[in-house]
Amino acid sequence: MKKEKRWIEGICKAYCTFYKEEKTELYCGAYRFIVSEFREDDLKEVPDDYWIDYSQDDWILNNICHRCEFFIDGCEFRQSGSSPPCGGYTILEFFRKKRT
Ligand code: SF4
Repeated sequence: MKKEKRWIEGICKAYCTFYKEEKTELYCGAYRFIVSEFREDDLKEVPDDYWIDYSQDDWILNNICHRCEFFIDGCEFRQSGSSPPCGGYTILEFFRKKRT
């Protein structure tokens, strides 16, 4: 899977604190899931100022993070809680709350 600019803009650049312009070849489990399950236009529903509340954390941990290549070594949120989760986490939490 190669990262596409339109998805980078909508997921990583818009919501991810880990985003680095020069590292566009890296993508996490949340990115993969969103690209496979959502339409690009869906992302417009997420408010720019959406604030995560971790209410969907169990589902995201079990279904997304455990399959993420950064889970073991690379996600400071999962390793130590010293940073917020990735941008895809934010997007998935929003849609989980909206659609369930
Ligand atoms: S929160 Fe961390 S482990 Fe979970 S999908 Fe995002 S980068 Fe991967």
